Amino acid sequence: MTEALQCVGCGAVIQTEDKNKIGYTPQSVLEKGLETGEVYCQRCFRLRHYNEIQDVSLTDDDFLKLLNEIGQKNALIVNVVDIFDFNGSLIPGLHRFVGNNPVLLVGNKVDVLPKSLKKTKLKQWMKERAHEEGLRPVDVLLTSAKRSDALDTLLEMIEKYRNGRDVYIVGVTNVGKSTLINQIIQKTSDVKDLITTSKFPGTTLDKIEIPLDDGHSLIDTPGIIHRHQMAHYLGDKDLKIIAPQKEIKPKVYQLNSGQTLFLGGLARFDFIQGEKSSFTVFVANDLVIHRTKLEKADQFYEKHVGELLQPPREDETNDFPELVRFEFSIKEKTDIVFAGLGWITVKDPGVVSGWAPKGVDVITRKALI
Ligand code: GDP
Repeated sequence: MTEALQCVGCGAVIQTEDKNKIGYTPQSVLEKGLETGEVYCQRCFRLRHYNEIQDVSLTDDDFLKLLNEIGQKNALIVNVVDIFDFNGSLIPGLHRFVGNNPVLLVGNKVDVLPKSLKKTKLKQWMKERAHEEGLRPVDVLLTSAKRSDALDTLLEMIEKYRNGRDVYIVGVTNVGKSTLINQIIQKTSDVKDLITTSKFPGTTLDKIEIPLDDGHSLIDTPGIIHRHQMAHYLGDKDLKIIAPQKEIKPKVYQLNSGQTLFLGGLARFDFIQGEKSSFTVFVANDLVIHRTKLEKADQFYEKHVGELLQPPREDETNDFPELVRFEFSIKEKTDIVFAGLGWITVKDPGVVSGWAPKGVDVITRKALI
């Protein structure tokens, strides 16, 4: 029955099943709307009444269409990434889509990184990693949308690089794009100026246009879900534990080869071969870390996952994917990154392995700190 009904604001097909997807409307609101003949999806409703943007995500296909469309425009692209999950928040192949358009790379959630980390070093590191992905940003900027840090600088930079053009804001879900845009809206515009659009034929792109002074717009686009992130395997409560809310306090472990660290029950790190060395763990402060012997680690996990090793909680262990092992030979200071969970910095050469739930990436990268 709900199939043909469209949101008056954005044209999205109204649905009542999944509140994270486009067109979601609570059943009760839908019923009321049917009486008046006007149904807004929850996203448009919030936007109209509270000046607030909600997350939505697109399927891969629609996301590719969106990127293609952006590539054909003459515009500034603002790519928001999550500094804490840098690799997980890059958009694969973005450089191929942007064409000749300039990209401004915005690293959000800078509040969770240790304050001792120099901003210039971080920006340089981001630039290098972006280059490895083929992306050549015109500039790199750090923000904390939660604290409205650097909002003025962001707006100044946008003004500087857009050169009288439209601005598209892109990012994968969960990088803080909505939080950041909400800040921009509060600062720059009036709710009645906001427009939801879905002009692309055959898809609901659900863009939101914020008018700029010169007749151009700043356009918020939906994100794409990164499937290789830990977040997809956890419930809301666990997510609160693993997503850092404030500055991370790095934890340093002196390990001999043959020792293992468990990051809750979510991930595992083995020091297989090498001289005694120090290993620094960067994860949310509330995630409990356990050290044990490598030779006993399998049994230890079997026995304690869901209780000593949490998350996952006891009632979640049955559905939780098994941990899969990745082995790395380390030559120089390297981060072992568990997508969406954090990373362990390995200082000295040796052999290590990282384990994560099946489907979640474990990768290496040049050490950030
Ligand atoms: P979106 O999917 O990219 O639109 O992301 P949201 O704006 O919904 O933010 C995703 C999560 O990250 C939420 O839990 C936010 O509270 C959190 N978040 C957003 N910006 C920041 C930030 O600057 N610092 C921190 N620590 N968390 C943030």
